[in-house]
Amino acid sequence: MPESLVQEHIERRDRTREFIHTTLAPLESGIDAGAPIPGEVRRQVVEASRAAGFFGMTQPKAYGGTEVGPVAMTVVRETLAAANLRLSGAVFGPGPGVLAAAEGHLREHYLAPQMRGEKSSAFGFTEPADAPHPTTARRDGDDLVVTGAKSYVSGGDRADFINVVLQVEPSDVDAGGPALLVVDRNTPGLEIEQRFETLDGSSHVFMRFTDMRVPTTHILGKVGEGMPRAMRQIGDIRLSISAQACGIMLWTLDYITEHLKAPHRSGTPLGDREGVRMRYADMRIQAYAARSMLYRTARLAEAGENVINEGIATKVFTTEAVGEIVDQALQLCGGSALVIGHPLEALYRRVRAMRFTEGASDILRLNLARGRLDLDKGRI
Ligand SMILES: Cc1cc2nc3c(=O)[nH]c(=O)nc-3n(C[C@H](O)[C@H](O)[C@H](O)COP(=O)(O)OP(=O)(O)OC[C@H]3O[C@@H](n4cnc5c(N)ncnc54)[C@H](O)[C@@H]3O)c2cc1C
Repeated sequence: MPESLVQEHIERRDRTREFIHTTLAPLESGIDAGAPIPGEVRRQVVEASRAAGFFGMTQPKAYGGTEVGPVAMTVVRETLAAANLRLSGAVFGPGPGVLAAAEGHLREHYLAPQMRGEKSSAFGFTEPADAPHPTTARRDGDDLVVTGAKSYVSGGDRADFINVVLQVEPSDVDAGGPALLVVDRNTPGLEIEQRFETLDGSSHVFMRFTDMRVPTTHILGKVGEGMPRAMRQIGDIRLSISAQACGIMLWTLDYITEHLKAPHRSGTPLGDREGVRMRYADMRIQAYAARSMLYRTARLAEAGENVINEGIATKVFTTEAVGEIVDQALQLCGGSALVIGHPLEALYRRVRAMRFTEGASDILRLNLARGRLDLDKGRI
Protein backbone atom coordinates (compact mmCIF):
# COMPACT_ATOMS: atom_id res chain seq x y z
CA MET A 1 0.00 0.00 0.00
CA PRO A 2 1.22 3.53 -0.55
CA GLU A 3 1.75 4.06 3.19
CA SER A 4 3.89 1.02 3.91
CA LEU A 5 6.70 1.84 1.53
CA VAL A 6 10.25 0.85 2.44
CA GLN A 7 12.62 3.70 3.24
CA GLU A 8 14.19 3.60 -0.22
CA HIS A 9 10.83 4.24 -1.89
CA ILE A 10 9.89 6.96 0.60
CA GLU A 11 13.16 8.74 -0.19
CA ARG A 12 12.54 8.32 -3.91
CA ARG A 13 9.06 9.81 -3.56
CA ASP A 14 10.46 12.75 -1.57
CA ARG A 15 13.18 13.34 -4.16
CA THR A 16 10.51 13.33 -6.88
CA ARG A 17 8.51 15.96 -4.99
CA GLU A 18 11.66 18.03 -4.59
CA PHE A 19 12.40 17.75 -8.32
CA ILE A 20 8.86 18.85 -9.13
CA HIS A 21 9.14 21.79 -6.77
CA THR A 22 12.60 23.00 -7.77
CA THR A 23 12.71 22.15 -11.48
CA LEU A 24 9.49 21.14 -13.21
CA ALA A 25 7.09 23.66 -11.68
CA PRO A 26 9.35 26.72 -12.26
CA LEU A 27 10.05 25.66 -15.88
CA GLU A 28 6.36 24.97 -16.52
CA SER A 29 5.33 28.35 -15.13
CA GLY A 30 7.36 29.94 -17.95
CA ILE A 31 5.48 28.29 -20.82
CA ASP A 32 2.08 29.07 -22.29
CA ALA A 33 -0.46 26.41 -21.20
CA GLY A 34 -1.99 26.10 -24.68
CA ALA A 35 1.24 26.08 -26.70
CA PRO A 36 3.48 23.09 -27.51
CA ILE A 37 6.36 22.58 -25.09
CA PRO A 38 9.42 24.41 -26.54
CA GLY A 39 12.32 22.11 -27.47
CA GLU A 40 14.69 24.09 -25.29
CA VAL A 41 12.53 23.61 -22.19
CA ARG A 42 12.26 19.89 -22.95
CA ARG A 43 16.07 19.71 -23.17
CA GLN A 44 16.39 21.48 -19.83
CA VAL A 45 14.05 18.94 -18.22
CA VAL A 46 16.02 16.03 -19.69
CA GLU A 47 19.31 17.49 -18.45
CA ALA A 48 17.94 18.11 -14.96
CA SER A 49 16.30 14.70 -14.90
CA ARG A 50 19.59 13.01 -15.81
CA ALA A 51 21.39 14.92 -13.06
CA ALA A 52 18.71 14.03 -10.52
CA GLY A 53 18.76 10.33 -11.49
CA PHE A 54 15.23 10.01 -12.92
CA PHE A 55 16.02 9.83 -16.62
CA GLY A 56 17.68 6.39 -16.51
CA MET A 57 15.02 4.70 -14.33
CA THR A 58 13.27 3.27 -17.38
CA GLN A 59 16.55 2.17 -19.00
CA PRO A 60 18.45 -1.12 -18.50
CA LYS A 61 21.81 -0.97 -16.73
CA ALA A 62 23.47 -2.45 -19.84
CA TYR A 63 22.61 0.82 -21.59
CA GLY A 64 23.78 3.10 -18.82
CA GLY A 65 20.40 3.29 -17.10
CA THR A 66 19.51 2.67 -13.48
CA GLU A 67 16.48 0.44 -14.24
CA VAL A 68 14.31 0.13 -11.14
CA GLY A 69 11.48 -2.24 -10.23
CA PRO A 70 7.71 -1.80 -10.64
CA VAL A 71 7.13 -0.38 -7.14
CA ALA A 72 9.75 2.36 -7.52
CA MET A 73 8.40 3.20 -10.99
CA THR A 74 4.87 3.32 -9.61
CA VAL A 75 5.85 5.64 -6.76
CA VAL A 76 7.62 8.08 -9.08
CA ARG A 77 5.01 7.98 -11.85
CA GLU A 78 2.15 8.53 -9.42
CA THR A 79 4.00 11.38 -7.68
CA LEU A 80 4.77 13.08 -11.01
CA ALA A 81 1.17 12.72 -12.20
CA ALA A 82 -0.10 14.15 -8.90
CA ALA A 83 1.70 17.41 -9.78
CA ASN A 84 -0.36 17.68 -12.99
CA LEU A 85 2.45 19.27 -15.02
CA ARG A 86 2.89 18.74 -18.75
CA LEU A 87 6.67 18.64 -18.36
CA SER A 88 6.42 15.36 -16.40
CA GLY A 89 6.22 13.66 -19.80
CA ALA A 90 9.86 14.55 -20.51
CA VAL A 91 11.32 13.18 -17.28
CA PHE A 92 12.02 9.56 -18.29
CA GLY A 93 14.43 8.36 -20.94
CA PRO A 94 13.28 6.00 -23.67
CA GLY A 95 12.80 2.44 -22.41
CA PRO A 96 13.53 -0.71 -24.43
CA GLY A 97 9.83 -1.62 -24.86
CA VAL A 98 9.31 -4.68 -27.05
CA LEU A 99 12.98 -4.56 -28.08
CA ALA A 100 14.12 -5.52 -24.57
CA ALA A 101 15.30 -8.98 -25.61
CA ALA A 102 16.52 -7.98 -29.10
CA GLU A 103 19.76 -9.60 -30.25
CA GLY A 104 22.29 -9.11 -33.06
CA HIS A 105 21.26 -6.75 -35.84
CA LEU A 106 18.10 -5.52 -34.07
CA ARG A 107 20.02 -4.85 -30.88
CA GLU A 108 22.79 -2.96 -32.64
CA HIS A 109 20.74 -0.95 -35.13
CA TYR A 110 17.48 -0.34 -33.25
CA LEU A 111 17.61 -1.05 -29.53
CA ALA A 112 21.00 0.62 -28.83
CA PRO A 113 20.23 3.83 -30.81
CA GLN A 114 16.80 3.98 -29.14
CA MET A 115 18.43 3.81 -25.72
CA ARG A 116 20.86 6.57 -26.72
CA GLY A 117 17.93 8.73 -27.85
CA GLU A 118 19.15 8.68 -31.48
CA LYS A 119 16.18 6.71 -32.85
CA SER A 120 12.57 6.55 -31.75
CA SER A 121 9.91 3.90 -32.28
CA ALA A 122 6.13 3.58 -32.43
CA PHE A 123 3.86 0.60 -31.87
CA GLY A 124 1.61 -0.75 -34.63
CA PHE A 125 -0.94 -3.01 -32.99
CA THR A 126 -4.47 -1.75 -33.69
CA GLU A 127 -6.03 -2.84 -36.98
CA PRO A 128 -8.41 -0.43 -38.74
CA ALA A 129 -12.07 -1.07 -37.82
CA ASP A 130 -12.95 -1.99 -41.42
CA ALA A 131 -9.88 -4.16 -42.12
CA PRO A 132 -10.97 -7.25 -44.11
CA HIS A 133 -7.95 -9.27 -42.81
CA PRO A 134 -5.33 -8.73 -40.13
CA THR A 135 -1.93 -7.46 -41.29
CA THR A 136 -0.25 -10.49 -42.84
CA ALA A 137 3.22 -11.46 -44.04
CA ARG A 138 4.33 -14.25 -46.38
CA ARG A 139 7.89 -15.48 -46.64
CA ASP A 140 9.76 -14.91 -49.87
CA GLY A 141 13.40 -15.99 -49.60
CA ASP A 142 15.06 -13.92 -46.88
CA ASP A 143 12.21 -11.40 -46.80
CA LEU A 144 8.72 -11.10 -45.43
CA VAL A 145 6.22 -9.49 -47.78
CA VAL A 146 3.71 -7.57 -45.70
CA THR A 147 0.17 -6.45 -46.57
CA GLY A 148 -2.31 -4.73 -44.31
CA ALA A 149 -2.78 -1.54 -42.29
CA LYS A 150 -2.44 -0.20 -38.76
CA SER A 151 -4.28 2.69 -37.20
CA TYR A 152 -3.76 4.86 -34.12
CA VAL A 153 0.01 4.44 -34.35
CA SER A 154 0.92 7.11 -31.79
CA GLY A 155 3.91 9.19 -32.83
CA GLY A 156 4.14 7.12 -36.04
CA ASP A 157 4.83 10.27 -37.97
CA ARG A 158 8.04 11.09 -36.13
CA ALA A 159 9.22 7.56 -35.37
CA ASP A 160 12.29 6.14 -37.14
CA PHE A 161 10.84 2.64 -37.01
CA ILE A 162 7.58 0.88 -36.12
CA ASN A 163 7.22 -2.34 -34.13
CA VAL A 164 4.40 -4.02 -36.03
CA VAL A 165 2.34 -6.92 -34.74
CA LEU A 166 1.31 -9.14 -37.67
CA GLN A 167 0.37 -12.64 -38.71
CA VAL A 168 2.96 -14.71 -40.62
CA GLU A 169 1.55 -17.30 -43.02
CA PRO A 170 2.66 -20.94 -42.62
CA SER A 171 5.62 -21.90 -44.84
CA ASP A 172 8.34 -24.54 -45.20
CA VAL A 173 10.32 -22.70 -42.53
CA ASP A 174 7.72 -22.70 -39.75
CA ALA A 175 4.04 -23.10 -38.95
CA GLY A 176 3.44 -19.35 -39.07
CA GLY A 177 1.71 -17.34 -36.34
CA PRO A 178 1.80 -13.90 -34.74
CA ALA A 179 5.09 -12.04 -34.89
CA LEU A 180 6.61 -8.68 -34.07
CA LEU A 181 8.43 -7.08 -36.96
CA VAL A 182 10.71 -4.04 -36.81
CA VAL A 183 9.95 -1.86 -39.82
CA ASP A 184 11.86 1.27 -40.86
CA ARG A 185 9.40 4.08 -41.46
CA ASN A 186 10.87 4.83 -44.88
CA THR A 187 10.54 1.23 -46.15
CA PRO A 188 9.09 1.18 -49.69
CA GLY A 189 5.50 -0.06 -49.53
CA LEU A 190 4.78 1.71 -46.22
CA GLU A 191 2.52 4.67 -46.75
CA ILE A 192 1.18 7.06 -44.12
CA GLU A 193 -2.35 7.67 -45.34
CA GLN A 194 -3.67 9.84 -42.57
CA ARG A 195 -2.44 11.95 -39.69
CA PHE A 196 -4.83 12.81 -36.89
CA GLU A 197 -5.07 13.97 -33.28
CA THR A 198 -7.25 12.63 -30.49
CA LEU A 199 -8.98 14.75 -27.86
CA ASP A 200 -6.20 14.19 -25.33
CA GLY A 201 -3.86 16.13 -27.66
CA SER A 202 -1.77 13.16 -28.84
CA SER A 203 -1.09 12.57 -32.54
CA HIS A 204 -1.33 9.34 -34.52
CA VAL A 205 -1.15 7.96 -38.03
CA PHE A 206 -2.95 5.45 -40.17
CA MET A 207 -0.37 3.49 -42.15
CA ARG A 208 -0.86 1.03 -44.98
CA PHE A 209 1.54 -1.72 -46.07
CA THR A 210 1.40 -2.81 -49.71
CA ASP A 211 3.76 -5.65 -50.64
CA MET A 212 6.25 -4.15 -48.21
CA ARG A 213 9.47 -6.22 -48.09
CA VAL A 214 11.24 -6.49 -44.74
CA PRO A 215 14.19 -8.84 -44.05
CA THR A 216 13.30 -11.82 -41.82
CA THR A 217 16.19 -10.70 -39.55
CA HIS A 218 13.78 -7.95 -38.44
CA ILE A 219 11.48 -10.47 -36.70
CA LEU A 220 11.82 -10.04 -32.94
CA GLY A 221 12.51 -13.49 -31.51
CA LYS A 222 10.63 -16.22 -33.36
CA VAL A 223 7.41 -16.34 -35.32
CA GLY A 224 4.70 -17.33 -32.83
CA GLU A 225 6.21 -15.16 -30.09
CA GLY A 226 4.61 -11.97 -31.36
CA MET A 227 1.67 -11.77 -28.99
CA PRO A 228 3.47 -12.74 -25.74
CA ARG A 229 6.14 -10.12 -26.47
CA ALA A 230 3.58 -7.46 -27.28
CA MET A 231 1.57 -8.38 -24.19
CA ARG A 232 4.62 -8.13 -21.92
CA GLN A 233 5.22 -4.58 -23.08
CA ILE A 234 1.57 -3.69 -22.85
CA GLY A 235 1.52 -5.10 -19.28
CA ASP A 236 4.25 -2.67 -18.19
CA ILE A 237 2.53 0.23 -19.89
CA ARG A 238 -0.81 -0.65 -18.29
CA LEU A 239 0.74 -0.37 -14.84
CA SER A 240 2.25 2.95 -15.85
CA ILE A 241 -1.13 4.25 -17.08
CA SER A 242 -2.69 3.12 -13.79
CA ALA A 243 -0.04 5.00 -11.79
CA GLN A 244 -0.72 8.12 -13.84
CA ALA A 245 -4.47 7.70 -13.31
CA CYS A 246 -3.96 7.47 -9.54
CA GLY A 247 -1.70 10.54 -9.54
CA ILE A 248 -4.35 12.51 -11.42
CA MET A 249 -6.92 11.40 -8.82
CA LEU A 250 -4.70 12.79 -6.05
CA TRP A 251 -4.33 16.12 -7.83
CA THR A 252 -8.07 16.30 -8.53
CA LEU A 253 -9.04 15.48 -4.96
CA ASP A 254 -6.69 18.14 -3.58
CA TYR A 255 -8.12 20.65 -6.03
CA ILE A 256 -11.74 19.87 -5.26
CA THR A 257 -11.12 19.78 -1.50
CA GLU A 258 -9.90 23.39 -1.66
CA HIS A 259 -12.86 24.31 -3.84
CA LEU A 260 -15.38 22.80 -1.41
CA LYS A 261 -13.85 24.65 1.55
CA ALA A 262 -13.67 28.01 -0.26
CA PRO A 263 -16.36 30.71 0.14
CA HIS A 264 -19.32 30.29 -2.24
CA ARG A 265 -21.79 32.94 -3.42
CA SER A 266 -24.60 31.11 -1.57
CA GLY A 267 -23.02 32.25 1.71
CA THR A 268 -21.65 28.92 2.90
CA PRO A 269 -18.93 26.76 1.33
CA LEU A 270 -20.24 24.04 -0.98
CA GLY A 271 -18.58 21.47 1.26
CA ASP A 272 -21.14 22.22 3.98
CA ARG A 273 -23.92 20.61 1.94
CA GLU A 274 -24.75 16.97 2.56
CA GLY A 275 -25.46 16.20 -1.09
CA VAL A 276 -22.05 17.57 -2.07
CA ARG A 277 -20.38 15.59 0.72
CA MET A 278 -21.91 12.36 -0.58
CA ARG A 279 -20.38 12.95 -4.01
CA TYR A 280 -17.08 13.93 -2.47
CA ALA A 281 -17.02 10.78 -0.32
CA ASP A 282 -17.62 8.60 -3.39
CA MET A 283 -14.66 10.24 -5.11
CA ARG A 284 -12.45 9.44 -2.15
CA ILE A 285 -13.72 5.84 -1.95
CA GLN A 286 -12.84 5.30 -5.59
CA ALA A 287 -9.39 6.82 -5.19
CA TYR A 288 -8.70 4.71 -2.11
CA ALA A 289 -9.69 1.50 -3.90
CA ALA A 290 -7.74 2.47 -7.03
CA ARG A 291 -4.51 3.20 -5.17
CA SER A 292 -4.86 -0.01 -3.15
CA MET A 293 -5.12 -1.99 -6.39
CA LEU A 294 -2.24 -0.12 -7.99
CA TYR A 295 0.22 -0.79 -5.19
CA ARG A 296 -0.87 -4.41 -4.71
CA THR A 297 -0.33 -5.13 -8.40
CA ALA A 298 3.01 -3.30 -8.42
CA ARG A 299 4.17 -5.40 -5.44
CA LEU A 300 3.11 -8.64 -7.13
CA ALA A 301 4.99 -7.58 -10.27
CA GLU A 302 8.04 -6.69 -8.16
CA ALA A 303 7.96 -10.19 -6.68
CA GLY A 304 8.14 -11.61 -10.21
CA GLU A 305 4.55 -12.89 -10.22
CA ASN A 306 2.50 -13.12 -13.38
CA VAL A 307 0.21 -10.09 -13.15
CA ILE A 308 -1.48 -10.14 -16.54
CA ASN A 309 -4.93 -10.48 -14.98
CA GLU A 310 -4.25 -8.13 -12.07
CA GLY A 311 -2.72 -5.58 -14.45
CA ILE A 312 -5.88 -5.70 -16.55
CA ALA A 313 -8.14 -5.34 -13.49
CA THR A 314 -6.06 -2.41 -12.24
CA LYS A 315 -5.96 -0.66 -15.60
CA VAL A 316 -9.72 -0.95 -16.09
CA PHE A 317 -10.57 0.16 -12.55
CA THR A 318 -8.10 3.04 -12.21
CA THR A 319 -8.86 4.54 -15.63
CA GLU A 320 -12.61 4.30 -15.13
CA ALA A 321 -12.31 5.67 -11.59
CA VAL A 322 -10.21 8.65 -12.67
CA GLY A 323 -12.77 9.37 -15.39
CA GLU A 324 -15.57 9.46 -12.82
CA ILE A 325 -13.55 11.48 -10.31
CA VAL A 326 -12.61 14.16 -12.84
CA ASP A 327 -16.21 14.21 -14.11
CA GLN A 328 -17.57 14.70 -10.57
CA ALA A 329 -14.96 17.38 -9.89
CA LEU A 330 -16.11 19.26 -12.99
CA GLN A 331 -19.71 19.04 -11.81
CA LEU A 332 -18.86 20.34 -8.35
CA CYS A 333 -16.77 23.18 -9.78
CA GLY A 334 -19.51 24.38 -12.08
CA GLY A 335 -19.35 25.89 -15.55
CA SER A 336 -16.00 27.58 -15.00
CA ALA A 337 -14.33 24.18 -15.13
CA LEU A 338 -15.55 23.76 -18.72
CA VAL A 339 -13.78 26.87 -19.93
CA ILE A 340 -11.04 25.85 -22.36
CA GLY A 341 -7.73 26.02 -20.52
CA HIS A 342 -9.17 25.19 -17.08
CA PRO A 343 -7.07 22.37 -15.56
CA LEU A 344 -10.12 20.12 -15.09
CA GLU A 345 -11.22 20.62 -18.69
CA ALA A 346 -7.76 19.53 -19.86
CA LEU A 347 -7.77 16.52 -17.52
CA TYR A 348 -11.26 15.52 -18.63
CA ARG A 349 -10.01 15.14 -22.21
CA ARG A 350 -6.81 13.44 -21.14
CA VAL A 351 -8.35 10.80 -18.88
CA ARG A 352 -11.01 9.88 -21.43
CA ALA A 353 -8.34 8.53 -23.76
CA MET A 354 -6.95 6.30 -20.99
CA ARG A 355 -9.90 3.93 -21.34
CA PHE A 356 -8.73 3.09 -24.88
CA THR A 357 -4.95 3.18 -24.82
CA GLU A 358 -3.30 -0.22 -24.32
CA GLY A 359 -6.67 -1.97 -24.42
CA ALA A 360 -10.25 -0.71 -24.42
CA SER A 361 -12.01 -1.37 -21.09
CA ASP A 362 -14.65 -3.75 -22.48
CA ILE A 363 -12.10 -5.84 -24.35
CA LEU A 364 -9.92 -6.03 -21.25
CA ARG A 365 -12.95 -7.23 -19.30
CA LEU A 366 -13.35 -10.07 -21.81
CA ASN A 367 -9.68 -10.98 -21.39
CA LEU A 368 -10.03 -10.98 -17.62
CA ALA A 369 -13.04 -13.29 -17.75
CA ARG A 370 -11.17 -15.57 -20.14
CA GLY A 371 -8.21 -15.61 -17.74
CA ARG A 372 -10.35 -17.34 -15.12
CA LEU A 373 -13.02 -19.21 -17.05
CA ASP A 374 -10.79 -20.66 -19.76
CA LEU A 375 -7.27 -20.53 -18.33
CA ASP A 376 -7.86 -20.76 -14.57
CA LYS A 377 -5.58 -17.77 -13.90
CA GLY A 378 -5.79 -14.61 -11.82
CA ARG A 379 -6.35 -13.56 -8.21
CA ILE A 380 -9.06 -11.67 -6.40
C1 LIG B 1 -4.81 8.17 -27.38
C2 LIG B 1 -4.72 6.82 -28.04
C3 LIG B 1 -3.45 6.29 -28.34
C4 LIG B 1 -3.34 5.06 -28.98
N1 LIG B 1 -2.10 4.58 -29.32
C5 LIG B 1 -1.97 3.42 -30.01
C6 LIG B 1 -0.68 2.97 -30.49
O1 LIG B 1 0.35 3.63 -30.31
N2 LIG B 1 -0.62 1.80 -31.18
C7 LIG B 1 -1.74 1.05 -31.44
O2 LIG B 1 -1.61 0.00 -32.05
N3 LIG B 1 -2.98 1.47 -31.01
C8 LIG B 1 -3.13 2.63 -30.32
N4 LIG B 1 -4.37 3.07 -29.92
C9 LIG B 1 -5.56 2.30 -30.27
C10 LIG B 1 -6.19 1.60 -29.09
O3 LIG B 1 -5.36 0.57 -28.63
C11 LIG B 1 -7.55 1.13 -29.59
O4 LIG B 1 -8.38 2.30 -29.75
C12 LIG B 1 -8.22 0.16 -28.67
O5 LIG B 1 -7.47 -1.02 -28.59
C13 LIG B 1 -9.63 -0.17 -29.17
O6 LIG B 1 -9.60 -0.59 -30.50
P1 LIG B 1 -10.51 0.11 -31.59
O7 LIG B 1 -10.38 1.58 -31.47
O8 LIG B 1 -10.22 -0.51 -32.89
O9 LIG B 1 -12.01 -0.21 -31.17
P2 LIG B 1 -12.83 -1.55 -31.41
O10 LIG B 1 -11.96 -2.75 -31.24
O11 LIG B 1 -13.58 -1.43 -32.68
O12 LIG B 1 -13.83 -1.48 -30.19
C14 LIG B 1 -14.76 -0.41 -30.01
C15 LIG B 1 -15.69 -0.77 -28.87
O13 LIG B 1 -16.50 -1.88 -29.26
C16 LIG B 1 -16.73 -2.72 -28.15
N5 LIG B 1 -16.16 -4.03 -28.46
C17 LIG B 1 -15.19 -4.33 -29.37
N6 LIG B 1 -14.96 -5.63 -29.43
C18 LIG B 1 -15.79 -6.21 -28.54
C19 LIG B 1 -16.05 -7.56 -28.16
N7 LIG B 1 -15.35 -8.56 -28.68
N8 LIG B 1 -17.00 -7.78 -27.22
C20 LIG B 1 -17.69 -6.75 -26.66
N9 LIG B 1 -17.49 -5.45 -26.99
C21 LIG B 1 -16.57 -5.19 -27.91
C22 LIG B 1 -16.03 -2.08 -26.95
O14 LIG B 1 -16.95 -1.27 -26.25
C23 LIG B 1 -14.96 -1.21 -27.60
O15 LIG B 1 -14.61 -0.12 -26.78
C24 LIG B 1 -4.52 4.32 -29.29
C25 LIG B 1 -5.78 4.84 -28.97
C26 LIG B 1 -5.89 6.08 -28.36
C27 LIG B 1 -7.26 6.63 -28.05
